[in-house]
Amino acid sequence: METFSLHVRTIPIRHAPSQAPCPTCRQPGRRKAIHSRRVRTIVYKQVVFLDLTYGEYRARCGCCTTFRTTPPDVEPRALYDNKVRQAVLDRILDGGMSIERVITHFTVPWGATPESPRGLKSRARERRP
Ligand SMILES: [Zn+2]
Repeated sequence: METFSLHVRTIPIRHAPSQAPCPTCRQPGRRKAIHSRRVRTIVYKQVVFLDLTYGEYRARCGCCTTFRTTPPDVEPRALYDNKVRQAVLDRILDGGMSIERVITHFTVPWGATPESPRGLKSRARERRP
């Protein structure tokens, strides 16, 4: 059996300008905080995380109190980017894989167990007080 070590890589992505438009009405808001999180992306035979830095903005309009920016290929609050989401949908819709096989396909090589398919669930649980 061939064994290989996965190369873990982190790509920094900064998306926190000092002003950003409200997602609803496009009126600019000022940045009040900078946050960061790790988002998993998909690259062939590599473990790659995006180290996202994004801003939280105080809204000047009545749409909301605050809002946050997000890069174009990452949904708000998502742990995986759109490439991973599309790959999962392709396996299910085009490949005809069952949901259980897709969960196993994506979680076992990524260091998670099929019982906790998100893999990062335990990390999120650790952050809570
Ligand atoms: Zn607004």
